[in-house]
Amino acid sequence: MSRISKLLLVVSLSFTFYLSPFTLKAQDSAYVRRVIRDLSSPEMFGRGMQNRGDSIAADYVRNELRNNGVKPLPGVSVGARGIGVKDEYFQYFRFPNTTTWPPIVKAGYRSQNVCGYIPGETDSMIVFTAHYEHLGMHDDTIFYGAHDNASGTAAVLDIARMCNQQRGRYTYVFLFFGGEESGLIGSGYFADVPLIKMNKVKLLVNIDLFCGGDEGLMVVNANAKETKPYVDLLEQLNEQRHYAAKIGRRDNARNSDHYYLSQECPAIFIYTLGGPFGGYHSPEDTCEGCGLGNYMNFMTLLKSFLEHL
Ligand SMILES: [Zn+2]
Repeated sequence: MSRISKLLLVVSLSFTFYLSPFTLKAQDSAYVRRVIRDLSSPEMFGRGMQNRGDSIAADYVRNELRNNGVKPLPGVSVGARGIGVKDEYFQYFRFPNTTTWPPIVKAGYRSQNVCGYIPGETDSMIVFTAHYEHLGMHDDTIFYGAHDNASGTAAVLDIARMCNQQRGRYTYVFLFFGGEESGLIGSGYFADVPLIKMNKVKLLVNIDLFCGGDEGLMVVNANAKETKPYVDLLEQLNEQRHYAAKIGRRDNARNSDHYYLSQECPAIFIYTLGGPFGGYHSPEDTCEGCGLGNYMNFMTLLKSFLEHL
């Protein structure tokens, strides 16, 4: 290669770098730690039915969306109290009569999904989802649910902050579901009454269980025709810099909120492999046990992934 073409190559490479249309700014883990601590505090009563802990948590998530400049998804008050300021960001649903597990949620109990978006240059959508509610209380024992799923909720709120720093090519949608622990009730309702055009969704990423991760990340529904190219990209990016110890792959499973939505659009579910975290579906799942040592690496990987879409 001649000297002049080398020079031209360097110039064009630096142009590509500086003129990249969508460069997300990584942030530190202080925000995510604060959100996990708040959501798993005793004041949230385990984010279940008791003392309406789920609604306290939903108000908290809505305030974070508002403070971070994320707009309410239009039409979110379907079939509820009517549209008004109080109902902004909320899509209400009721627990069905058939709900028998866990017995801590009564049939007919009303909860809500919290829904926001950041408009992009096109109506093609990238959707992030996480369930914000948890098991609540059993007698006087609180199930704090830091790992499950204050961590995923905090991560999706953090992604919203990151995406809001610059208008991108895609419209970003952020959905926080209730009723997951009782059998994907909130996300199932959203699949039945979608507030977005599901055929405009390029990719949906559900995050559930995001503390720890010393052994890497697992992707569920990684091998379907419509999702495989995305997981391949994630793997390639990870091979370059080793953000995660490994990227595991699983076929689709009805194990989190991506499931019903995966029948409507390309959808994957990401969770961490390995600790440290306090526990799973036990009162020991606290903020103190929630390791965030891998968090920034995972976020940097996700940021790079979004920039390549
Ligand atoms: Zn969960």
